[in-house]
Amino acid sequence: MLRKNELLEIKAFLMEMKKEILQNLEEKIKSNDMSEQREIGDIFDDADLEQSREFNLLLTTRERQKLDQIESALSKLETGEYGYCEDCDEAIPVGRLRAMPFATLCVNCKSERESLEGTPSAYVEEKG
Ligand SMILES: [Zn+2]
Repeated sequence: MLRKNELLEIKAFLMEMKKEILQNLEEKIKSNDMSEQREIGDIFDDADLEQSREFNLLLTTRERQKLDQIESALSKLETGEYGYCEDCDEAIPVGRLRAMPFATLCVNCKSERESLEGTPSAYVEEKG
């Protein structure tokens, strides 16, 4: 079970990661000169941003994946579902969450899934 300060710590970390990705994207938009009339500042407030063409063109698959994971972790933090294994509902140890804030499975279920799917997540991690 995560304590409130631990949740806040993880939330802050996730927000920081999200900011980094968006800042990275902002840099790309600037250098690609694709923004044209678009105000860069709007990007953080744009609710439809993730559906926008620019956004999808400029983000790498990896960044998009990461952003998805961040969003889903953040929404779980909001609903109080964060920190529980999706498969067995066991609480994921805080040490694991600190190391991997997007972990949605406990170590056991994760290795079980990997052996079932035959695609270790490291493969996805190292691509791109
Ligand atoms: Zn589990």
